Amino acid sequence: MDIFYNSTRNSDVKVKASEAILKGLADDGGLFVPQSVPALDIDMDTLKDMNYKEVAYAVMSKFFTDFTEDELKHCIDSAYDEKFDTEEIAPLVYADNAYYLELFHGATIAFKDMALSILPHLLTTSAKKNNVKNDIVILTATSGDTGKAALAGFADVKGTKIIVFYPKNGVSPIQELQMVTQKGDNTFVVGINGNFDEAQTGVKKMFNDKELAKALDDAHFQFSSANSINIGRLIPQVVYYVYAYANLYANEKIKKGEKINVVVPTGNFGNILAAFYAKNMGLPIDKLICASNENKVLFDFFKTGTYDKNREFKLTSSPSMDILISSNLERLIYLIADKDSDKTKALMSALTNDGKYSITPDMQKKLDSFYGNFANESETAEEIKRVYEDCGYIMDTHTAVASAVYGKYTKETSDNKTTVIASTASPFKFTRSVMNAIDSKYDSFGDFELVDELSKLGNVSVPKAIEEIRNADIRHKTVCDIDKMEDEVKKFLSI
Ligand SMILES: *Cc1c(COP(=O)(O)O)cnc(C)c1O
Repeated sequence: MDIFYNSTRNSDVKVKASEAILKGLADDGGLFVPQSVPALDIDMDTLKDMNYKEVAYAVMSKFFTDFTEDELKHCIDSAYDEKFDTEEIAPLVYADNAYYLELFHGATIAFKDMALSILPHLLTTSAKKNNVKNDIVILTATSGDTGKAALAGFADVKGTKIIVFYPKNGVSPIQELQMVTQKGDNTFVVGINGNFDEAQTGVKKMFNDKELAKALDDAHFQFSSANSINIGRLIPQVVYYVYAYANLYANEKIKKGEKINVVVPTGNFGNILAAFYAKNMGLPIDKLICASNENKVLFDFFKTGTYDKNREFKLTSSPSMDILISSNLERLIYLIADKDSDKTKALMSALTNDGKYSITPDMQKKLDSFYGNFANESETAEEIKRVYEDCGYIMDTHTAVASAVYGKYTKETSDNKTTVIASTASPFKFTRSVMNAIDSKYDSFGDFELVDELSKLGNVSVPKAIEEIRNADIRHKTVCDIDKMEDEVKKFLSI
């Protein structure tokens, strides 16, 4: 069956998958959603023998129906290759009564690699299918993680260039090193004398600049975005939930059809929405446990039915979840509003104008497969220490939020179903917070000393992504003021 994509703010909009991927966001500001979530009509006895790429094809071919088999397989083969440090791509590790689904074995050791390693190929294929002749220029502002994952994904992909702006004094030393050492002739990284919001504003301005778009087009370029609301980032994330279930079944940890719970450390609501899509495809998932840090907008939303971003923004040790507007939640709102795009649009306008909205009791009833809770900073640190001391397994701060929330859930409900916890970053990415949680003596250690200590303590080798930046050449040294961002883009593109 052909699947088309509607806008959450206008159901009359109907485009093919490749068009939705190229556009990213609908013209009305809505997000693209599949007209219906396709059924996973492949038997678990078949899925259990498949490798990651095969499961990826089984799942994505149901959503991206305008891609040919060759096109989609080419995208999948180009993404899930030796950039990952394990052939399993997304291994399951049992510790402390749950299965940690390690989504951090890609190029930048965080879960964004799962989607950003395939997005460039989905984008270039979509461009070809839609007769776009221009090269795609990805323009991004980053507060750390997304920028590097996008750089790694797009590096040396033919027909693309990528430009990343980051706040010169606003990212961690490891994050900065990861970006400024990025290889690939089509990559360009610029530090700005300003904060993340200013970088973001500068990028948005360029996206909306008609004159600049014309100059780009004359030189056979066009801008695109690697933003997490792109359907080309969401669908690849459905794959690993199916893969994890098939893995549990293959290893006789669950019976066929047995329901499992899934716990996801959540920020922009993309990862957990992918799990919800997997459930809607028919994967036997019972509860979707949504874990927040101290920025607990989602916990309050699930509890009260009111989404309210008017509150203090907190900087935590799980920075990728420090978010007050979870953009992907709009897709869930659309579904629980029975695909009523006018209703969805009204709620999103309220969010823009008043910073909040409330859903109806009817809509709230449809959220019964979700459970929300949060972990504060000390609970998160204690969880890292506890699991390390009990099982020797060392997790990162984001995963620890999920793990701590899972503990609260089981205490509250006594539900002891087999549970998968999405492990979204390697502890090597957040070494200082992780090591300090285990013992405060590490406070005085240097960044790479901590890396070596963590390797010893956890009995795991240092990931390639970290080894590489230890001695890598600095390739990107450009720093500019915020009013010079456009000049830097033009210089890089020679326009
Ligand atoms: C982006 C990110 C998250 C949040 O994922 P969403 O899809 O935005 O909810 C959690 N953990 C890490 C390490 C991340 O990079």
